[in-house]
Amino acid sequence: MKELLEGFLSRLETETTPKEGEYLGDDGLLYCGKCHTPVQCRKELFGKMRILPCTCRCRQEEMRRQKEADEARERMNTIHRLKATGIQERHLLDWRFDVAEETDTIRWAKHYVENWRKVRDKNLGLLLWGDVGTGKSFAAACIANVLLEQAVPVLMTNFSRILNQMGAMYTEERYQYIASFNHYSLLIIDDLGIERSTEYAKEQVYAVIGERYKANLPLIITTNLTIRELRNPATVADARIYSRVLEMCTPVQVSGGDRRQAVSRQKQELVKDVLFSGKGGEVSQ
Ligand SMILES: [Zn+2]
Repeated sequence: MKELLEGFLSRLETETTPKEGEYLGDDGLLYCGKCHTPVQCRKELFGKMRILPCTCRCRQEEMRRQKEADEARERMNTIHRLKATGIQERHLLDWRFDVAEETDTIRWAKHYVENWRKVRDKNLGLLLWGDVGTGKSFAAACIANVLLEQAVPVLMTNFSRILNQMGAMYTEERYQYIASFNHYSLLIIDDLGIERSTEYAKEQVYAVIGERYKANLPLIITTNLTIRELRNPATVADARIYSRVLEMCTPVQVSGGDRRQAVSRQKQELVKDVLFSGKGGEVSQ
């Protein structure tokens, strides 16, 4: 045993003939010709002073840079992967704070991501409700995009899509599919209330929300339903779903200008600019 160890250590001890780019210092150790720090050190090991290999400063720097580059690349890959699975509708990727008008809802949404750690730890969900076109989905997508950029797993989807996916599944697969949403730190369900309203559909909607509830993970829901409709559901099935949603998500009313109209106005301005600039052309409103 002792011989084995000694054999190993003596193999580790390096020679003192400089390789290319090295030189022998006054202290009898080899130095790096580039950074002039030693590539060897003296260490007492098992009762004997030995000369062992070590890493010079420039090599350490190089290794650190390499490690950082690897980590950055790994992170980019992760973000890329997360975005591809987390946001399936491509146009949602363009809905970002930097193109958002500063509305109350956008301010809310910004606070939400700025305080993400707290939001996640305390499981704070949001229920963005209001009329069509007020920017509920837009605000939710902005939240998703910022968090995805920070490598936080987010899934933004809707119940129509979920129900379509489930359509072809066996019961066991369905359970697994519903449980798979727990891999996402944040689940965003867009447009609650527009999905099919069969008994089967309602049951699945309840199962998804219930699973999120059990997992104690945050949920954001957008809906065109009013808070009145949510608090006074028409059926028992709806009552089950909405009461759980209201328990998990803080209602935020989204009102104000119709975003779609604003966008179409912007587009008209752009068309005017591009097609008629300097020619006195008019686009009728
Ligand atoms: Zn060096």
